[in-house]
Amino acid sequence: MSNGVIMSFMSIIRILSDHVINQIAAGEVIENPASVVKELVENAIDAGAEAIIIEERGGGLQFIRVIDDGVGMSPDDALLSLERHATSKIKKAEDLFTLKTMGFRGEALASIAAVSHLHLTTSNGQLGTEIFCEEGRILKTLPAARKRGTTFEVRSLFAHVPARKSFQKSSSLCALAILKIVTQLSLAYPSIHFELIQEDKTTLSAEQTTSLEKRIGQVLGDKFLKDSFSLSFADTDLKVTGILGSPLQTKLNRTGQYLFINQRAVSCPAMSFAIKDGYGMRIEKERHPLFCLYLELTPELIDVNVHPQKLQVRLREEKTLCDKVKKAVGHTLSRENFPQDLIKPPFKEAHSFLNEFQSFKEAEEPLFIFKDEGLPLKKSEVPLPIVIGIFRHFLLLEGGESFDGILIVDLYAAEMRILYDHLRYEENKESQSLLIPELFTFSHEESMQLVENIPQLESIGFGIRALSAKNFVVDALPPFLEPSSLRDLLEEISTIKEKQGELLKRVLQFRRKRSYDLQEALAIEEKLKRNSSPSFCPFGKPITRYLKTDDIEKFK
Ligand code: ADP
Ligand code: MG
Repeated sequence: MSNGVIMSFMSIIRILSDHVINQIAAGEVIENPASVVKELVENAIDAGAEAIIIEERGGGLQFIRVIDDGVGMSPDDALLSLERHATSKIKKAEDLFTLKTMGFRGEALASIAAVSHLHLTTSNGQLGTEIFCEEGRILKTLPAARKRGTTFEVRSLFAHVPARKSFQKSSSLCALAILKIVTQLSLAYPSIHFELIQEDKTTLSAEQTTSLEKRIGQVLGDKFLKDSFSLSFADTDLKVTGILGSPLQTKLNRTGQYLFINQRAVSCPAMSFAIKDGYGMRIEKERHPLFCLYLELTPELIDVNVHPQKLQVRLREEKTLCDKVKKAVGHTLSRENFPQDLIKPPFKEAHSFLNEFQSFKEAEEPLFIFKDEGLPLKKSEVPLPIVIGIFRHFLLLEGGESFDGILIVDLYAAEMRILYDHLRYEENKESQSLLIPELFTFSHEESMQLVENIPQLESIGFGIRALSAKNFVVDALPPFLEPSSLRDLLEEISTIKEKQGELLKRVLQFRRKRSYDLQEALAIEEKLKRNSSPSFCPFGKPITRYLKTDDIEKFK
């Protein structure tokens, strides 16, 4: 029986062939096209490349090519490199952060080869060789003419592993993941020239540089550097350098955060929190700062939990280290040259009406406006509660028998709720055409995400189209939005893939502020009742608040 497959009449247990074992193991290292790119680029970095060019098509599922000018391989080594556990490096996971190299398990190439059609061309400057391999089987080996360096071409990724293939996200999301990986690697290695070409378009291009700041600008764009702060801190076991984004350039998610420990992109939630903490009251509670920070630590302080895609680390003496970083961040932001007008007042939680009420006592205006004229309902005719009037965007009602005091309906919050429910659950969304369509240009990363979100935007009344890879035109808007807020809005939602409800909330945050007359206020009240009187707006703010007569009596 070939290749260890034991089959007898009764037997249901099989010993898997090497080929199948390789395919299964490949699943651990090679989860998706981005992990192929990561492994190939890391190998190129290990090979001492000064320039790395990455190309992909179809989100990498069709085609990936990585070209480097590193040390290359001899014909023998090239053949060996495709074997499982072939590595010129070493050894155990714990060595990861002491190692100078990225690779350590010697299984990336074997895994990639097992699930694709792979074409390798390499030369060590003396001998060149070319290998064709399909699903782990070497088809042919030829001498080749090539300058020193290595080229890997990967085609038809997962084509023969249907289970893995069907697990992949859309090709545009795969492309986005590749862009993210190359972004991280190029931020970690400014001394290497990186070029990423996706669907024949250059989406990232970064010349060699010795300056971290320059590399950050090349890769993340000048917007990232605008009004930013450069941080530099060192003591005996910790060194931190990098850029802190302006407190005015924050995001609702963490996509603008890049953290490197000993030159590896890592995820370390405790450290990310500490950095945000360092911003203190300069940013609103639910927003996240932009940063690109490089930490250097003695390897003994790092606990590694190796995940093929995301390197999750925990730090020994985490609290001490986090505190140091938090202080360094705070110190950097409060440097004397910090323009005072950049400091925002601390974000006020949903205003308590009481505070407003009290601070208004001194004001000249009357506390309540009695609008009896024109009131559609006379006090005597209506069931309780009775309308008192409107104060700013609050409708005030007398509690009457049901409640001894005043009911305050936050009309803005109420309308937010009605709008949210309508946009989320009902048909017939209103849309207003713009007289002059607006044009917007975004970064590649933002554009790819925005394209993903277009169907959702259209479903709530946007008229939006992609004109080219980075240019968009908007020619219609839902009526509750101001055209002037469009740029910020699109930028905000071009960050990550959102579920319908989340995207809606983000859009609603840009809703125009407005004032209400009594007619409108009562119409809102009516609608609320028809929607079975929800208690909160989509952002968790209460719609109705109560002020007890007893409490009013106690005001000083
Ligand atoms: P690892 O990186 O863990 O050693 P890989 O499967 O990724 O394992 O690679 C196997 C070996 O192939 C490497 O140790 C290295 O010797 C060689 N190799 C892979 N890619 C390159 C490259 N781009 N240039 C030179 N050598 C390479
Ligand atoms: Mg490797």
